[in-house]
Amino acid sequence: MKTNTLGNTGIEVTELCLGALPMGPLQKDIPLEECVKVVETALRKGITFIDTAQMYKTYAPIREAIKRTGIRPVIASKSAAPDYEGMERAIKEALEQLDVDYVDIFLLHAARAGTEVFEARAGAIECLKDCKAKGLIRAMGISTHDTKVAELTAKRQDMDIMFPIINKAGIGILNGTVNDMLRAIKENSTAGKGVYLMKVLGGGNLINDYIESVNYARSIDGYHSIAVGMVSPEEVDFNVAYFNGTYDPEKTPTVKGYSKQYQVFTNLCKGCKTCVAACPNYAIEFDEETKKAYINEEKCLTCGYCTSSCKEFAIRLI
Ligand code: SF4
Ligand code: SF4
Repeated sequence: MKTNTLGNTGIEVTELCLGALPMGPLQKDIPLEECVKVVETALRKGITFIDTAQMYKTYAPIREAIKRTGIRPVIASKSAAPDYEGMERAIKEALEQLDVDYVDIFLLHAARAGTEVFEARAGAIECLKDCKAKGLIRAMGISTHDTKVAELTAKRQDMDIMFPIINKAGIGILNGTVNDMLRAIKENSTAGKGVYLMKVLGGGNLINDYIESVNYARSIDGYHSIAVGMVSPEEVDFNVAYFNGTYDPEKTPTVKGYSKQYQVFTNLCKGCKTCVAACPNYAIEFDEETKKAYINEEKCLTCGYCTSSCKEFAIRLI
């Protein structure tokens, strides 16, 4: 598979990155052994880049797949911790649970945060710098849905990596348009940042339009890799074949869209509004009359970030 170097980091990755969010408890919540099989298949088929996060809770299958295959991929993780201590704990947790000496890339997990994020998380940024100096991480950066944050990242010396949302339908892009995000991607790449793309399939919403959506992402000027969430060895086979240019509609099973929808079970909702702030795409709204939260399906990216924010377990995948 084609490989690229992530900007000035010197880190080489395959064009296709395994996105580890959908297999984990925030989304499909598939059993550990099945998750391991997905990661193992990806590594054996030549994918050398995995994207995960503290909140995805998928370190265990990645660790197991590395043990079974003896293949050590480039691993990117991220944490929403705002301060030094929180980020330090997040990195320690990743090192321990992945059983590695270093994590290649560690990001500020900042999906919906606005341009104040760099000030608001100054402590976390200091921690990333210190961990990089100690060799515990090799590169640092930010994951964002916000075009203005993406633009600012290009101008910052301390950011090595930018991980933006982009897709042909513009699903989930905040504070600007698809074109604004495309411009920011180019600026980051020109400035020597490594750029890998998230949600090119709109969080699953564009899965039935896979070929056009992936081709769109691959036509973007300045990207180095594309993270695609995969939940079965068959999906890995399909994606690898597509990115390798060996996809044959007669022989390769196609990916099937599976229905995925999050819903607030109103009988369980206590009206605390915690979930409203947890959604990166402002998709959770609150009905002041009934005092219950509800999900605006048109805005929902099906990321699952809201599920763990509800202590009542009122938000479920249906
Ligand atoms: S966090 Fe849960 S209980 Fe609180 S408003 Fe949201 S759905 Fe309702
Ligand atoms: S409501 Fe928001 S947090 Fe929940 S799955 Fe949809 S986009 Fe993600």
